[in-house]
Amino acid sequence: MADIKSYPDALQRVIAYLGHLPGVGGRTAERMALSLMSWQEGDLAGFGAQLSSLRKDVGFCPVCGYLTNGSQPCRFCSSPDRERSIICVVEQVTQVHTIENSGCFKGLYHVLGGKISPMKGRGPADLRIEELRERLADGEVKEILIALSPDVEGEATAHYLAQEFGGMGVMLSRIAAGVPVGSDLSFADAATMASAISGRRRFGE
Ligand SMILES: [Zn+2]
Repeated sequence: MADIKSYPDALQRVIAYLGHLPGVGGRTAERMALSLMSWQEGDLAGFGAQLSSLRKDVGFCPVCGYLTNGSQPCRFCSSPDRERSIICVVEQVTQVHTIENSGCFKGLYHVLGGKISPMKGRGPADLRIEELRERLADGEVKEILIALSPDVEGEATAHYLAQEFGGMGVMLSRIAAGVPVGSDLSFADAATMASAISGRRRFGE
């Protein structure tokens, strides 16, 4: 393929934007941009409009922190079919998908938005921990299932949660070993996640 600098300016800019996406290298960005050149005008305009309203149209659930339409409660929090007595605590939105794909969990979620990390200057106040505390206030939640990646930061966060919520009349449990130590839960396959959830145990055991 040609040197990117030989393309018209606007195309170079599209290539640069696409190159910011995860897993997209320079060559892939170039191929994608050239492919967009073959789209119908209307499709390109629709794509552009969708991108420009993305941050306005998609928000985070005020209850659990998962993605949602605008600022309404998400499809889990507003579903009558989910068990409301158990909340699974995860770091990021992508891990909700991993757990959903396992088909083993029918409760609600709580997305912390990260893990406690002194190295990165991220403490409990930077995570959605107070929001979790509020969800426990009415006594409906009986179990908090901690599903954090089994690395140093995940451990520190799990212990913090156990310390904060241990005496509040809820059972704290965590997913079973089986997810490799140090791995990112977002990439666990459905079968691994299913066995990790079905083999969950009480925190500290
Ligand atoms: Zn929600």
